[in-house]
Amino acid sequence: RDFQHVGLILGVTGIVGNSLAEILPRSDTPGGPWKVYGVARRPRPDWNANRPIEYIQCDISDQEETQAKLSKLTDVTHIFYVTWASRPTEVENCQINGAMFRNVLRSIIPNAPNIRHVCLQTGGKHYAGPFDCIGKIPSHDPPFTEDLPRLNVPLFYYNQEDILFEEVDKRQGLTWSIHRPCGIFGFSPHSLMNIVGTLCVYAAICKHEGFPLLFPGTKETWEGFSEYSDADLIAEQEIWAAVDPNGRNEAFNCTNGDVFKWKHLWKVLAEQFEIENYGFGDEKGSERVGLEEVMKGKENVWEEIVRENQLQPTKLNEVAVWSFADTVMNLGAGYLVSMNKSKEHGFLGFRNSKNSFVTWIGRLKSHRIVP
Ligand code: NDP
Repeated sequence: RDFQHVGLILGVTGIVGNSLAEILPRSDTPGGPWKVYGVARRPRPDWNANRPIEYIQCDISDQEETQAKLSKLTDVTHIFYVTWASRPTEVENCQINGAMFRNVLRSIIPNAPNIRHVCLQTGGKHYAGPFDCIGKIPSHDPPFTEDLPRLNVPLFYYNQEDILFEEVDKRQGLTWSIHRPCGIFGFSPHSLMNIVGTLCVYAAICKHEGFPLLFPGTKETWEGFSEYSDADLIAEQEIWAAVDPNGRNEAFNCTNGDVFKWKHLWKVLAEQFEIENYGFGDEKGSERVGLEEVMKGKENVWEEIVRENQLQPTKLNEVAVWSFADTVMNLGAGYLVSMNKSKEHGFLGFRNSKNSFVTWIGRLKSHRIVP
């Protein structure tokens, strides 16, 4: 079969990687027909297995392994970099994520004569800093626009951007785009940050144990305006930038284009799991207990839920990232980004956040990850 383009997805089982793996091979995808390679470390999971892609198991933090496995992919035309590694400090994050990205670019670019474009996915922390700095360092005033200067803190996104510019400059005509989503609504039990998956597992445990579904965050997050990014929408923007001349050599924010309040989505979550007793919880208590604390030791409960409902076999710490949910639910609200630049350049995609939330809950259920 003749392909017009050849995409390489780094992080193909991740929250956006999995969407790219579904959308790229479709017959009506811009720039198609696409041949697609996808990379991750673990063996290919069942829920990703029906994507028509070539799956490559490779640890891209290992320079030799990356060279050996990826330098052979000489037909790659487009790189979609949607992966990352988490370390205890941001300085370590800069080192590991910089090395991973460089390993990939240095294995592909010199060996792929038709390479045209590199998409790099970073995120909204570009404007607010790493999670542990938010609120402690002077940040920009939202809504954030792509032209704002970098903050004066270490952040691995800044390193990755610099590596991107350096490596892309070595090949004439090679273009790039940077994509900055906010929190992501998507499907992936192999994601380091999956808010929908984590909240569904929390709801399933509350339902199973007969506990009320209480909001783990602050009043500000509950009441204020939040903005999220649908994983399919991000994939669509990345594919648009990869093939449309108006998307070349630019950074773009990527959000659903609407705002919501968690107090409204909480009702939706409760309905999806048929929980009648739900809400913000004790109004007086200023000391709110996070999910990491409340869900401690629930591994056996999760095993029971999986067994009783004949779900895909998963471990609790794979499908629920409590610390991540606690962090985002305690950030407060109002960290809004502007979608004007993306629209002005021609990407008009959007999502209704409530529908997006319900859709991804549905996909988690239909893949038998949650009951
Ligand atoms: P995920 O954590 O969802 O997925 C990571 C993917 O990469 C998985 O497929 C994982 O599979 C693979 N992977 C991890 N380490 C390696 C490795 N060493 N070698 C090969 N494959 C590896 O990624 P995200 O989409 O969340 O993250 C991409 C970017 O988006 C990051 O910069 C992140 O900060 C940003 N972002 C994410 C948000 C979110 O809510 N998720 C919000 C805003 C920005 P395996 O473990 O099997 O290797």
